[in-house]
Amino acid sequence: METKTALRVGGMVLGYYLICPRKAWLSLRGLWMEGESDTVAQGRLLDEHTYGRSDKHIALEAEAPCGIRLAGKVDWANLKEGVLHETKKGRACEEAHRWQLRFYLWLLALNGVSRRDGQPFTGQLNYPALRKTETVTITEDDSLQLNRWVQEIGQLAYRFTPPERIGKRSFCRKCAFEELCYG
Ligand code: SF4
Repeated sequence: METKTALRVGGMVLGYYLICPRKAWLSLRGLWMEGESDTVAQGRLLDEHTYGRSDKHIALEAEAPCGIRLAGKVDWANLKEGVLHETKKGRACEEAHRWQLRFYLWLLALNGVSRRDGQPFTGQLNYPALRKTETVTITEDDSLQLNRWVQEIGQLAYRFTPPERIGKRSFCRKCAFEELCYG
């Protein structure tokens, strides 16, 4: 486990936290299951084959108002248009996807980065397999909410025992941590 000063909260962990705090706890402990990294890799591969692009995997860092270090890797960005893109396979966790992208928009705002016209960047969720896109924006209230969740994740990281399993067995069947949770 990382030391307290080394804790960094990323967009993927935030997405996990919103789906299942136990999943976030396991990944904060450095437990990345093979299936999970495969899924991420597949998503990126799908992305690379579907969208031709020059800017990709933008790395961002910032400090949240609550003092916790934040880090994120954006799938790709159109800096000229001021749009961050995140590619996903399916929409089963679309609310978590929206917040993950808002988290990256928040990192940009915390760094004082805006579009050329002074407006904030926007986000676009891409679901190439479904041929769908969705625009995501961030409000002041969203930023406050993100800060609260980051604080909660900071507390979660130092728990010695994991949170309870979520009560949606059908969802767990698709989770890479299933064997660990039910084995
Ligand atoms: S298997 Fe279920 S309870 Fe376990 S981490 Fe995944 S979603 Fe959470």
